[in-house]
Amino acid sequence: MQYKEIKIYTTQEGIDPLTIILTDMGIAGFAVEDARDYQDLLNRKNSYDWDYIDDSLMALEHVPVNITFYLEDTADSRRIIELLTETLDLLRGNASLEERKSYGTIDFGTLEMIIRTVDDSQWKDNWKEYFKPAAITNRIVIKPTWEEYVQKNDELVIELDPGMAFGTGTHPTTTLCVRLLERYLEAEKDRVMDVGCGSGILAIASALLGAVEVLAVDIDPVAVEVTRENAKQNNLSDKIRVLEGDLTKGLSEQADIVAANLMADLVISLSKDVAAHLKGKGVYISSGILLEKKEEVTSAIERCGFHILEILEEGEWCAIAAKKK
Ligand code: SAH
Repeated sequence: MQYKEIKIYTTQEGIDPLTIILTDMGIAGFAVEDARDYQDLLNRKNSYDWDYIDDSLMALEHVPVNITFYLEDTADSRRIIELLTETLDLLRGNASLEERKSYGTIDFGTLEMIIRTVDDSQWKDNWKEYFKPAAITNRIVIKPTWEEYVQKNDELVIELDPGMAFGTGTHPTTTLCVRLLERYLEAEKDRVMDVGCGSGILAIASALLGAVEVLAVDIDPVAVEVTRENAKQNNLSDKIRVLEGDLTKGLSEQADIVAANLMADLVISLSKDVAAHLKGKGVYISSGILLEKKEEVTSAIERCGFHILEILEEGEWCAIAAKKK
């Protein structure tokens, strides 16, 4: 489908009034790029609010303040763009109207508007070219739903379409988790909790490895939907229950294994709850931990009543398996 990408350059003080104008025109979702946000983020470094900053965020430091949104390319959207062009003209001071008065002395900056036509395949489907069937462990193969693959002997094949959720299965933080699941999951016996399920990859791997039941949780409704769909694709809807929720809050279930591929500070804050949700001698598999955070996370896990079974490393990442005492 074709979209119009509309980018309007403004100032920090222009952002709020401009978002009100856009909302009044019926535009519901927009992205604001503002170097101030980048600064806020950097200022939080010491409270360990983040581990890892993506290059696209680093680039924000130099970005002039702007607001961007997308409209489907239809007659309606062309009307909205005309209306917006007139409104921006008024705000630039090219005419004096009641509307302009209501914004008083706000400095909106240039209000330059740049419109591009984009095709959603450019951001939605391009990645599919690079997502091919892949053996992520000796036994488990990830097969994108749209690819052909012939299963060999005792391989376990996961049919996966991650859509907009995290987890093609090939990221080291995920493969480390799957390797630990293979090692510690007892088939026909264990109940598993997958905290932060993303595409559902760990929940599905657990079910294929013989888990009796899996509870998958994610804070993101998109991930919940994608996990349900992927469970269905693999004929595992009866084994995998998917809930929208924040970590383990509000859950009463007890599991034999908890898998959590989150980031270090979330793993740390989750560990106490995991202890409460694990049966005696249960195994806690945590991942998404940068090597530089390994000691910090390990001690936090130990303090919550676990002993460390093993730590696997790949690249800059590690995953920890720990047993409840
Ligand atoms: N389990 C998948 C996805 C990991 S990405 C894999 O191993 O590949 C981490 C996921 O955790 C994301 O889907 C994110 O939405 C979810 N998440 C982040 N914070 C969370 C929280 N507080 N509670 C539940 N899920 C959370």
